[in-house]
Amino acid sequence: MIQTREQGIETMLAEIDAEARITRRMTGRPGIDARIMDVMAKVPRDAFVPEALRAAAFDNGPLPIGHGQTISQPFIVALMTDLLAPRPTHRVLEIGTGTGYQTAVLSLLCDSVYSVDRIAALSETAAARLERLGFHNVHIRTGDGHAGWPEFAPYDRVIVTAAATHIPAALVDQMRPGGRLVIPVGPPHGPQSLLLVNKDAAGQSEVRDVLGVAFVPLVADDERR
Ligand code: SAH
Repeated sequence: MIQTREQGIETMLAEIDAEARITRRMTGRPGIDARIMDVMAKVPRDAFVPEALRAAAFDNGPLPIGHGQTISQPFIVALMTDLLAPRPTHRVLEIGTGTGYQTAVLSLLCDSVYSVDRIAALSETAAARLERLGFHNVHIRTGDGHAGWPEFAPYDRVIVTAAATHIPAALVDQMRPGGRLVIPVGPPHGPQSLLLVNKDAAGQSEVRDVLGVAFVPLVADDERR
């Protein structure tokens, strides 16, 4: 079926909503916050996917973005953003910039986003794309996300968009008390869980398993971390 761009966006929003309902017993959330759905409608996903895949830009599925990586499916972006509960005053740390799509979604919901990707070609392309599209409250660098971005810590929120084998200690350390971390954890091609980590006022962390997911691995350049 040939759809206009507007119809494509409408269909994407309806599919996010449907998947949120199907998974609500597992996620414990009745649906995605309306402010987040508004942002999902606004950020042009077609400007983030490779040109040859533009026709599929608003499908509710992941798409390849080169370098063996993928842009997450829209429902997962919406769910992770919802779990993060971003506020306009928040400084957010993101690990796994990829195309910069999730970065753009977050940038419209918080004060600033600091994003790290280990592949320079991806982080440089994402930075140029975000600048061109007018997302100015984002800061991107190339590096290993296991170490976070200590220079701008503490962060109110931390999001990781690649599957880690464990919760990297640096990311919890760089989070403010009262902060939240959303991260997929599990073996590279095995069962992975989307975890929500809440750090309380005393600095103690509590972890909740939200949903089974499938992410590309958070690559460990140094196995000792
Ligand atoms: N959120 C992105 C998609 C992320 S795909 C989007 O919206 O497009 C996962 C990303 O994590 C890839 O770009 C990959 O290069 C990056 N990545 C993998 N291991 C990493 C690490 N150790 N540190 C930083 N980034 C990493």
